[in-house]
Amino acid sequence: MKCPVCGAVYRPATANGHSLNCRRCKADLSDLIRIHDQAIWYHRQALLLLQQGCYSEAKANNDQALALYASHADFHALAGKLLALEGNFQDAIACWQRTLKFDPQNAIAHACLQILTFTVDC
Ligand SMILES: [Zn+2]
Repeated sequence: MKCPVCGAVYRPATANGHSLNCRRCKADLSDLIRIHDQAIWYHRQALLLLQQGCYSEAKANNDQALALYASHADFHALAGKLLALEGNFQDAIACWQRTLKFDPQNAIAHACLQILTFTVDC
């Protein structure tokens, strides 16, 4: 997560307790962190629901996560997976390409894009 004020990477929870301020510009990031945590929570719910086979509920939760925090690579990666499950590969590919924009090393997006290109080639 990056500080929206100065762009420094925010590192959560040191051993001395929570710091809710940017370590570089000291901006108060507590609201942002709360929103981020909430988004992560929705994303985890989505992963759980996906494991249980509740795809539309998983999608609803992941959409909530994305609405709160749109620049998290994992949220886009999961959105892609859920779209692929619906057979919507065109949008799924767009999601995974977006994932790689936020996290060029994202393993899920790389694997999924590779599988899809492989499938198309055969
Ligand atoms: Zn900052």
